[in-house]
Amino acid sequence: MILQGKEVAKHIHTELKEAIRPLKKPPGLAVILVGDNPSSQTYINMKRRACEKVGIRSFFHHLPDSTPEKELLELVKALNFDAEVDGILVQLPLPDHIDPVNVIEALDPKKDVDGFHPVNLGKVIAGLEDGFIPCTPLGIKKLLEHYSIDVAGKHVVIAGRSAIVGKPLAALLMQNAPGCNATVTVVHSRTQNIKELTRQADVLIAAVGIPKFIKADMVKEGAVVIDVGITRKEGHLVGDVDFENVEKKCKAITPVPGGVGPMTVAMLLQNTWLSYQRSHSSS
Ligand code: NAD
Repeated sequence: MILQGKEVAKHIHTELKEAIRPLKKPPGLAVILVGDNPSSQTYINMKRRACEKVGIRSFFHHLPDSTPEKELLELVKALNFDAEVDGILVQLPLPDHIDPVNVIEALDPKKDVDGFHPVNLGKVIAGLEDGFIPCTPLGIKKLLEHYSIDVAGKHVVIAGRSAIVGKPLAALLMQNAPGCNATVTVVHSRTQNIKELTRQADVLIAAVGIPKFIKADMVKEGAVVIDVGITRKEGHLVGDVDFENVEKKCKAITPVPGGVGPMTVAMLLQNTWLSYQRSHSSS
């Protein structure tokens, strides 16, 4: 079975559109891009188009590559106080002279709809529900739920330990909560005998950023395989899984493109809507 993230994301868009349509003043998402990285521009365009589709207003701040860190921090602080803005997205990577940690920590955690701020990451670990779950881990959980793939009691192996995918995904799926309760193993660049571990996975999630890293002999017969990786190669997007060969032996698999990527964007919209609802219910 192919897990069609693109189709599931469309359903989520439709639901959001319906919910937002009656509002006089729809939610607003501030989108910050520093420099002209072509991949970042593509991602930003996708996210802004998705906002437009569901009726979220996006406020685009495109700053030159030479922007000093101080200036970016000032913009973030101003957006923190801007009542029109429910969510703030800073597209990564940033130019080398800007420390992304400083920028993420400058965000108001209540507007950090990407869920990258340490306060929000901490809330994922603590199992507190008043933060924002990072979009890719949340999108993967929703995709599994949509296809009734229950990870409870299952062995989930995650390849990759980044702060935006691997680590929060592990914390999320091991929680004692609906759609979670997995036994999670995280493998990374210093893990020995990766294959021995990945072959034990009931659900194998690849987020390493190396094209076709997961080969058929690393996958158990009948496993579910989720491919987070996106690498641009000769004008095409390539995942971390050797799809052609792995597909034959697994029960379900996500394609690249059209799998986790659209779910990530849908969760960005959903988090922005959540932020709007939270700020409007407390006033
Ligand atoms: P990252 O570069 O921050 O982390 C990569 C991880 O892979 C590291 O933790 C590292 O330990 C691990 N790794 C590297 N080489 C390895 C090896 N040989 N064996 C085992 N582990 C190894 O990456 P990231 O930001 O988590 O992104 C990973 C991939 O997912 C990238 O291709 C990125 O473009 C993609 N991505 C996709 C989405 C989406 O929405 N689909 C979202 C975020 C990231």
